[in-house]
Amino acid sequence: MLNINLKGKKAFIAGIGDDQGFGWAIAKALAEAGATILIGTWTPMMRIFTTSFEAGKFDESRVLSDGSLMQIAKVYSLDAAFDTPDDVPEETKENKRYKDASGYTIAEVAELIAKDYGTIDIFIHSLANGPEVQKPLLETSRKGYLAALSASSYSFVSLLQKIGPIMNPGGAALTLTFMASEKAIPGYGGGMSSAKAALESDTRVLAWEAGRKWNIRVNAISAGGLRSRAARAIGFIDKMLNYAHANAPLAKDLAAEEIGNTAAFLVSPLASAITATIVYADNGMHAMGIAMDSPAFTS
Ligand code: NAD
Repeated sequence: MLNINLKGKKAFIAGIGDDQGFGWAIAKALAEAGATILIGTWTPMMRIFTTSFEAGKFDESRVLSDGSLMQIAKVYSLDAAFDTPDDVPEETKENKRYKDASGYTIAEVAELIAKDYGTIDIFIHSLANGPEVQKPLLETSRKGYLAALSASSYSFVSLLQKIGPIMNPGGAALTLTFMASEKAIPGYGGGMSSAKAALESDTRVLAWEAGRKWNIRVNAISAGGLRSRAARAIGFIDKMLNYAHANAPLAKDLAAEEIGNTAAFLVSPLASAITATIVYADNGMHAMGIAMDSPAFTS
């Protein structure tokens, strides 16, 4: 029988703050395949996430097919906008949501994982942030644009830089992108479209470099719309979902589990020849050049 078997593999998934996003669904699929799950949660979300988790608020979404609950071996506090402690501004250190936190920069998290688990096999980057995402590019400030690139694109480069050395040969890294990188999608602003374009280019270059250096595969999933917390912050997700329903080749909602399953395949030995690719998992939306529900087609 052909199956996805990740037993004995350790996966670090960066970018889980609740049970609604792609990161959670990927963690669940990897757990279903037998992997040990380590996660990175954005420092300001850490308390709410761990409190909710411990209070059983996610129990319903933790149920695996055998009836057991997905186990998270460890939650690391992570702010992927900072590489080392020297990068953290005083203002952030003093912020009430950071004050009691420690070890949340990328270099420190990589060190902690090495200390706790030695090596890992799978690294998932499922995080993005664009403070000016609601502003058109023409109105985006330099600061907002660079912040989008820093949190959403360079974070992948930096995480792989620091986690690569503790990844076992044959391992796989994966990031999440969106087709606004290659097609204009008004509303996905603040430099987020630029950040996704950079992320996709970096996926190819990192695949070459990490492939030769550590024998690691690097891919991206270009996902369709999902009503996650991050997507709700953009402001037009419901319209995007309606639009996809009306115009994509597959007239159905995209379930987070579908991205989880795609991810599980891509990081598994079944995808051993797949690297440097952007895999579309979006009900085919990326292929459409016209909107079939446009009033222009109704007359
Ligand atoms: P999500 O809100 O579940 O995940 C984003 C996570 O990033 C959150 O947990 C947030 O706390 C975290 N984060 C933000 N800034 C961070 C930082 N500096 N350091 C560490 N963590 C940080 O939303 P999602 O939609 O599942 O997003 C996951 C990925 O999928 C993102 O890269 C997003 O761009 C991508 N994506 C989403 C959609 C969609 O429609 N939801 C479509 C295509 C791609």
